[in-house]
Amino acid sequence: MRLFADRLDLLSSENAFKIGPHIKALEALGRSVIKMNIGEPDFPLPDHIKEEIKRQLDLGNTRYADPQGILSLRQAIARRIEDTRGIPVTSERVVVFPGVKPSIGFAQQAYVNPGDEVIYPSPGFPIYESFIRYVGGVPKPVILTEEKGFSFGGAELARLITPKTKLIFLNFPSNPTGGLATREDLGEMAEVITARCSQDVRIYSDEIYETILFDGRSHESIASQKGMSGRTIVISGHSKAYAWPGGRIGYAVFPTRKEADIFTNLNINYFSCISPYNQEAARLALEDERSPVNIAAMVREFQQRRDLVVRLLNLVPGISCGLPSGAFYVFPNIAGLCENLGIFPAWQELPEELRAMTSPATIFQMFLLYEYGVAVMDRRSFGLAGSEGQHYLRLSIATSEGDLMEGLARLAKAAVDAQGLARFVTRREHLFS
Ligand code: PMP
Repeated sequence: MRLFADRLDLLSSENAFKIGPHIKALEALGRSVIKMNIGEPDFPLPDHIKEEIKRQLDLGNTRYADPQGILSLRQAIARRIEDTRGIPVTSERVVVFPGVKPSIGFAQQAYVNPGDEVIYPSPGFPIYESFIRYVGGVPKPVILTEEKGFSFGGAELARLITPKTKLIFLNFPSNPTGGLATREDLGEMAEVITARCSQDVRIYSDEIYETILFDGRSHESIASQKGMSGRTIVISGHSKAYAWPGGRIGYAVFPTRKEADIFTNLNINYFSCISPYNQEAARLALEDERSPVNIAAMVREFQQRRDLVVRLLNLVPGISCGLPSGAFYVFPNIAGLCENLGIFPAWQELPEELRAMTSPATIFQMFLLYEYGVAVMDRRSFGLAGSEGQHYLRLSIATSEGDLMEGLARLAKAAVDAQGLARFVTRREHLFS
């Protein structure tokens, strides 16, 4: 007999959190670590939102609330999605979750039977892939490439759709690459889906980075494409736009009321409701005219940092990095760096079991953390499928400019320390997270 159920072997994780204990252990030894690992804006929660949380607490708004989400917030969400996506939305079809994340696993529990196929981007947000096998689904990754700007269109989707396709995850702007699909790409996808999928196939469109777009771009949702609003679950939340990940506010607009009821029941089963004082403040965040001003200032800053970081990365031997279109990550190609440091043969020579748990980019990630005190993420952290032979890192630019400069200076030193790398690999410690 085993302590844990078999299905737990099938659940993966999000390494951006898992690397936390490594960072803490280093800091406990008095080492400084520059944290570019986690996707969390380094801006404070805007004052008007903070004041509303306090006001709600003073009003005693601390009891259980509607498990679907309080009506005033759902109405504000419905209005926002109607205005920005150009589709009709009613508050009965909106469900509020404690962050976007729970809705990913819920969607898989609600729609996917064993044997059903789930399409998702790789590299992509790791929780999409994490849940697929857990619910008995079959992972069907869309392997994104640098050549296509880490985006895709109808042709890539068409290759993966079969009669067993049940759920399709899209995420534009994307984590970890900042890739974006154009309106034309989304139009092509919509045509393919209309032609090839039954009405019961759902698109889970994770639009959490909708407000963080660079160079004057504006957000495009597949839900706005012809025939798609009846098949798309539009997802967004407050963690990024309002620099409020601790508020745990995410939401979904479902194609039907029936689906909203099903997800509300999952809420009831798992956590009853979301703190009502946060929900009131979340409503204010959507409606208050100070919010877009805060967002614009944050995006301006992210864009400046993006330009700085990409320029500095491209000066490092063996690194090449394109400009992301949105979100707050850069995704440099480090194949040349791995070559220069001798990481490929070092990885090849590892015992098979250890080799399978790491990758050349992972070895550099851990070397950078343990020897140079910079926390970044490796390609493998964003979906295992298709990660072989892809040598990338993700750096979060939701980090102060001072820290980014220091982190990049350390990275530039690590990039030419072949001897240090060889010593690090020989120790056989910390070769994966
Ligand atoms: N989707 C994507 C693409 C994300 O990057 C994140 C957070 N990193 C989430 C969902 C989860 O966000 P939340 O804090 O709302 O759970």
